[in-house]
Amino acid sequence: VKSSASSQTVNGAKKAYFSTIPYRDVCRIFQEVEATSSRLAIIKICSDFLYHIMKKNAQNLIPTTYLFINRLGPDYEPGLELGLGEGLLMKTISESCGKSLAHIRSRYQEIGDLGQIALEARSVQPTMFKPQPLTVGEVFENLRNIASSQGKDSQTRKIKLIKRMLTACEGVEAKFLIRSLQSKLRIGLAEKTALIALSKALLMNEYENTEEPSMELVEQAEQKIRDAFCQVPNYEIVINACLEYGIMELDKHCRLRPGIPLKPMLAKPTKAISEVLDRFQGHTFTSEYKYDGERAQVHLLEDGTMRIYSRNGENMTERYPEIKITDFVSDLSVTKSMILDCEAVAWDKDLKKILPFQVLSTRKRKDVELKDIKVRVCIFAFDILYHNGEGLINKSLRERREILHKITNPVDGEFQYAVEMTTSNLDELQKFLDQSVKDSCEGLMVKTLDGEESHYEPSKRSRNWLKLKKDYLNGVGDSLDLCVLGSYYGRGKRTGTYGGFLLGCYNQDTGEFETCCKIGTGFSDEMLQYLYDTLKPSAMDGPKATYVFDSTAEPDVWFEPTLLFEVLTADLSLSPIYKAGAAYFDKGVSLRFPRFLRIRDDKSVEEATSSQQIIELYEKQSHQ
Ligand code: ATP
Repeated sequence: VKSSASSQTVNGAKKAYFSTIPYRDVCRIFQEVEATSSRLAIIKICSDFLYHIMKKNAQNLIPTTYLFINRLGPDYEPGLELGLGEGLLMKTISESCGKSLAHIRSRYQEIGDLGQIALEARSVQPTMFKPQPLTVGEVFENLRNIASSQGKDSQTRKIKLIKRMLTACEGVEAKFLIRSLQSKLRIGLAEKTALIALSKALLMNEYENTEEPSMELVEQAEQKIRDAFCQVPNYEIVINACLEYGIMELDKHCRLRPGIPLKPMLAKPTKAISEVLDRFQGHTFTSEYKYDGERAQVHLLEDGTMRIYSRNGENMTERYPEIKITDFVSDLSVTKSMILDCEAVAWDKDLKKILPFQVLSTRKRKDVELKDIKVRVCIFAFDILYHNGEGLINKSLRERREILHKITNPVDGEFQYAVEMTTSNLDELQKFLDQSVKDSCEGLMVKTLDGEESHYEPSKRSRNWLKLKKDYLNGVGDSLDLCVLGSYYGRGKRTGTYGGFLLGCYNQDTGEFETCCKIGTGFSDEMLQYLYDTLKPSAMDGPKATYVFDSTAEPDVWFEPTLLFEVLTADLSLSPIYKAGAAYFDKGVSLRFPRFLRIRDDKSVEEATSSQQIIELYEKQSHQ
């Protein structure tokens, strides 16, 4: 199948997903990884394979890496989400494998894995003639085409493509193809592990070593790749730069560029002003209002266009037609390109004040027409990261602010600077915190102002940015975003819906979800009904291999990880029945008196509060 993507150029990255590597070879590796539990062994299996295919043709690496990490391109490229529904896949498997839909459905009830069902159905199906074996390039391009296929006949086109591939599948190929179509590879290969394997393979290639590179060197290389990826979150560009310039030179070649959203810097929670003062003792620091809206990365491209990206790198420009670059850039003949870090907040034009986050979330996400806008948005800028071809992230915050103020002009109710105050006086800070809440903000962001420690650290949750959220000062200092892993049937008034949920955090090292509480408080009846309807389709017959839980806390229903709850907790305690951070403490950390705040749909499940964050929150609490 010829792909239109092959000839496209996006942000200078040439698309050419050529790879003649047989798809069955990748599937063989998936199968091996699925059967292996040692992380080191998994790294070896994957890196040897990646090295081997790179030797044949380095370009093989790009589609293969994407298949390994279960993605079809960079997050900021639209239309690349697969996650095809079970209904469509069951129908397609049934039609292409000659099994009745009823049979497929009942097998699915029994084993809960469509991939396995496709494998079984294919293996007993006689084939009249043998189609050409699938290649990695072909599968990858087809997956991209299926994901981006839209419009009237898209369903038919998708089914046709899937059927064509299924017919060419042999053995375990059908299993992994179906799982990839569902965006659920389920082989226990965390992205971090895949990245280590990729780094190792690239090193082996670069140094032509017959010996294995040391783990230390591999980790250094992985860090280089991660750092580059934070500035340019596109594996294709990063891999190509590695191949061209060498991994250790990546920082010189993979730098911020307008049109590619970088991963934003994040903050650490704090519980009290005194904690901020302790942490920043001996440093100059500054406080800004913490606005309660949506992160907005504003890019001005060389061609004069503006783009606004969300926290996750989604292009949100059409959502904000009222924001015009010509209104707030002081001189467009001087400023040709820039990247600003901002928060977009709902704004009451008549009362000239900020509206709550809930109001912002009522705005349409697509096809927003200026004339239909009821809730206006004001952009509050707090940082500048790039200006006229120069990355500014390694300048101090004081210098960055100066540049921001020099090249932009605030416009009331459309583009303003985050309100700031530079003081280390406890009373003044307390007053500023109170005032921020009166002005409809969540609290303060406190940031180092001078020197290296005030550099902008893409993607990092840094100790140089502290958040002080007024509402959470009595708890652990922040709310947590946890993944729904299971549920308990409701009783009494809640009969007919789920009455409680089992939640877990995400361990970024292992790719596992570790349970940390059962929650049943904070839900309205409507919310429970909504959750029942939303979660029911993702119910599974048993837990996933990547769920770490105690058998005494098993829920009635297990779910695929699809949804995050933002949760408030009184405090954290060690518990024998929960598993968050258990590898570190022996016992797990759990939330006491958790309370549901809202659904977090702007974060993916891998962006749930991490085990590492929970460990840090617990340690901070017990050292008080
Ligand atoms: P996480 O839990 O991952 O830190 P979150 O999305 O839950 O992130 P918060 O913890 O509430 O967010 O705080 C960080 C967010 O605050 C930033 O991502 C940004 O969108 C917002 N924000 C508002 N005002 C500022 C500011 N002055 N400086 C930096 N970020 C700000």
